[in-house]
Amino acid sequence: MSKEKMFYCIPQQAYMRTDNCQKLRKRPTGKVPAGAQPRLRACETCTMYPLVDTGKVPTVTLAAYLGGTRPEVANLKSASLRKVIEKHLEREAG
Ligand code: SF4
Repeated sequence: MSKEKMFYCIPQQAYMRTDNCQKLRKRPTGKVPAGAQPRLRACETCTMYPLVDTGKVPTVTLAAYLGGTRPEVANLKSASLRKVIEKHLEREAG
């Protein structure tokens, strides 16, 4: 089974693959060597990625997406999702 899943990235207002979110976040910030791409500003200030990392963001498979199905937009105001985000960010902060 393909692991490729699509979710709706709220900061970029675009459908994205979950593994792309992780890749985009690992890009360097600011000045980068020729040929490399810097991190997007949306990713720098993003608070929704913990939902992607923990699998809490609504997704559809890539196959379903290509068939026209769209993932739901995460409700960042929901208490349970806020908790996931806060916990993840706390852990990252050490
Ligand atoms: S880090 Fe945030 S802004 Fe960047 S792709 Fe992931 S969800 Fe979107």
